[in-house]
Amino acid sequence: MKKLELHWQIMIGMVLGLVFGFGMTYLDWGKEFVLNWVAPLGTIFIKLLKLIAVPLILASLIKGISDLKDISKFRNIGLRTIGIYMGTTTVAIILGLVLVNVIEPGTGISEETIEKLTSTYANDEGVTAKLEEASRQKESGPLKFLEDMVPDNAVAALGNNQLMLQVIFFTIFIGISMLLIGEKRAKPLKDFFDSLNDVVLKMVDLIMLSAPFAVFALLANVVVSSSDPEILLALLKYAGVVVLGLLLMIVFYCILVSVIAKKNPFWFLKQLSPAQLLAFSTSSSAATLPVTMERVEEHIGVDKEVSSFVLPVGATVNMDGTSLYQGIAAVFIAQALSFDLPLSGQLTIVFTALLASIGTAAVPGAGMVMLVIVLESVGFPPDKYAIGLALIFAVDRPLDMLRTVVNVTGDATVATIVAKSVGKLHDDPKAKNWDDHYEEVK
Ligand code: ASP
Repeated sequence: MKKLELHWQIMIGMVLGLVFGFGMTYLDWGKEFVLNWVAPLGTIFIKLLKLIAVPLILASLIKGISDLKDISKFRNIGLRTIGIYMGTTTVAIILGLVLVNVIEPGTGISEETIEKLTSTYANDEGVTAKLEEASRQKESGPLKFLEDMVPDNAVAALGNNQLMLQVIFFTIFIGISMLLIGEKRAKPLKDFFDSLNDVVLKMVDLIMLSAPFAVFALLANVVVSSSDPEILLALLKYAGVVVLGLLLMIVFYCILVSVIAKKNPFWFLKQLSPAQLLAFSTSSSAATLPVTMERVEEHIGVDKEVSSFVLPVGATVNMDGTSLYQGIAAVFIAQALSFDLPLSGQLTIVFTALLASIGTAAVPGAGMVMLVIVLESVGFPPDKYAIGLALIFAVDRPLDMLRTVVNVTGDATVATIVAKSVGKLHDDPKAKNWDDHYEEVK
């Protein structure tokens, strides 16, 4: 019997997880049961993906750079990537601002709803935690992110998943130095990292065997932990604008893939779909990164020379879905609370949301933390931050799941078009399976 394709398996797991989660909300002990006995499976899966992120970046980026044979090529790829990332993010923010200004989801919202949301969420632990995190981030100067990118201790950098840019910096530094000592002298180290790279990719295949079960657990957990459905309905118009914007971004990526990379966009989305489904289930582009890399290289055909740099950098700094959401959320809050936001304020949002997308950690809910910084940039009164966040908190998780899909799709799109532009997009990629060499070792 032909095996069901991975994306179908994952989708079935997701649907069953949703149904199971809803069913459990009807039982007194249901939520407890899911939290104690089901959710840990999802957490273990995310931990496994995070576990291999640093070795994967290290091995694949070193392999990517040392395969280049020429440093100027790397500069070329680097500059294009950063330029296109900034371009797509700007498109996302402007698109979000146009939609929220045209549809105006915040103007119709009643005093009563605002009251209700404020009393439910303004002092909620989740909102307070986000405000605290935002004030910690705010204290930094404009070049702080550059400063933060350079590690002063290699082992500490490699030992902390939050320091992805430091890992990337250190790895590029090793890779370039390897090029400079010449092929012959760099060979032992290159062979080591090539082999490590194969091993880590095999680990991705093995972890993915459990993906359908893991997404079941993750979604059941999301359902039992979500807010009162009545409140979700009040925010339907706002959520609808964000979803519309995110969908339009996917259409935009499809156009880029078809016009620039000359690939069928449906084929592209199908190849990428397991990574998108995981982005949805985990709400974290960082946790999804190993799968994104595997799909983009082995299924879409992007050469490692490109993907090993473009994707880890993208997971950290390129968040089109998040910046689109930040633009919409900021204006929505202003509309709902009758805070005047002139055109100049909206232009400030374009700029700060662009920077915020670089500063947003690729973990669940981080976009909302940086939203506080966007609100601050337009002069929104600080004593109302908690009310502002309370207005959108109830729908944040589902929107986070969706914007993470866009974040990951954006990274994969840019990897594909950069690869095409430097002649590194292969036509018949060969996907590896977990059991390719199993016969030899059985
Ligand atoms: N969860 C998002 C991500 O990991 C970030 C955010 O928008 O909160 O890509």
